[in-house]
Amino acid sequence: YSLDHFVIPDHYETALSSVLIPHGVIMDRVEKLAKLIVQEATGPLVVCCVLKGGHQFFADLVNYIKKNVTRGGNSVPLSLEFIKVKSYSGETSGEVKLSLTDDECKEFAGKNILIVEDIIDTGKTMVQLLAKLKKYSPESVKVASLLIKKTPLSNGYIPDYVGFSIPNAFVVGYALDYNEYFRDLDHICVISEHGKEKYAIKN
Ligand code: 5GP
Ligand code: MG
Ligand code: MG
Repeated sequence: YSLDHFVIPDHYETALSSVLIPHGVIMDRVEKLAKLIVQEATGPLVVCCVLKGGHQFFADLVNYIKKNVTRGGNSVPLSLEFIKVKSYSGETSGEVKLSLTDDECKEFAGKNILIVEDIIDTGKTMVQLLAKLKKYSPESVKVASLLIKKTPLSNGYIPDYVGFSIPNAFVVGYALDYNEYFRDLDHICVISEHGKEKYAIKN
């Protein structure tokens, strides 16, 4: 969509090339995903937010799950967990490191975990994260990703719940960043060449 039709903060006006998913559309999709998750839940859920990009999706999803439960949906107690995943992109192993300690991860034993992530690109991060979590013997692990990118670099991983499948472009907004900027933008947008320069890391 053309930027002209949407409310965009002044500081990002020239840094974007288009609105890919308007905020209202995101919210409707998140509400629908919350309904599905509540319907399919078999017991208490540990909802695990992958920081930082997943935080907005996580917050809205948890809110809609709460509303769905109070409005007569399946009764699902939630506990909330937060995790930071560092990937060493430079290395061939592509290994990821978790911010949770070994003791904290042991709490996952026997639990139904729902990982909440912003975007699956190559799928490497998620495959590694799942392998790590499964060592702690959870009852089940499901993944909700707001976005999945259509890319030839995909390793074939597909999450249990997906908001939108998007073209192979770099997107920002709704907590997705470029050099830590654009998290404060409601819509999911495609960054422009000028935006990449304007918000480049400056030394
Ligand atoms: P993967 O391991 O699937 O290749 O990469 C996953 C991570 O890369 C995401 O969690 C996200 O942090 C980052 N990423 C991949 N594509 C994009 C994108 O288009 N925009 C932003 N902001 N981050 C992305
Ligand atoms: Mg992420
Ligand atoms: Mg990022």
